Amino acid sequence: FKTTDILGFPFVNTTFSSFMNQIKSRIEQRKNTFIITANPEIVVFAKKHPKYQNIIKSSNYITPDGVGIIKASHILNDDIPGRISGFDIFLNLLKWGNANHKSAYFLGAKPNVINDLKTTLNHNYPHLKISGIHDGYFNYDEQIVKDIQKTQPDMIFIALGYPKQDLFINKYRSISNGLWIGLGGSFDVLSG
Ligand code: UDP
Repeated sequence: FKTTDILGFPFVNTTFSSFMNQIKSRIEQRKNTFIITANPEIVVFAKKHPKYQNIIKSSNYITPDGVGIIKASHILNDDIPGRISGFDIFLNLLKWGNANHKSAYFLGAKPNVINDLKTTLNHNYPHLKISGIHDGYFNYDEQIVKDIQKTQPDMIFIALGYPKQDLFINKYRSISNGLWIGLGGSFDVLSG
């Protein structure tokens, strides 16, 4: 895709639907993919934390999540057509995953939230295969990592908030091909 540089970060500059088509095609090909959905808050935070900044730059796609990024593209005279938010990507992939019998792993949020999420997923997306599901308050990574490694899910949804979720993905993305994406508070939204 064409990208637009905003404060040193190359943001995806395309429509939501063309972006999703490319992501789905990469999932089908089992390509290792890391998406960061970045809002201005994340950009400012990354500017102050070089390690996080490098992780963001090592992702495959940085998408514009927040009107501030869209406005910045207007100022730069390099218009981005619209937001590509984590929650919209999440919903779109759940629907597609259900229609195409894909598998997904879910990590993050509080134990009661993840329990409700499981009920919602089984009800709304019965053909989506849940490879595993784990809350986001754990002391050891081992079991989670083993489960992902063993099940090799098509999609790995990590909702630990930033920068935690991206540090986790950066550390472990090599253990399984497929899509890795940080989703912030999306599990809370979908389960609530
Ligand atoms: N969270 C988690 N483990 C942690 C810290 C946070 O699972 O150690 C979850 C939290 O329960 C919530 C999400 O991460 O579901 C953070 O949501 P928020 O909207 O704050 O995301 P952000 O905007 O910080 O990315």
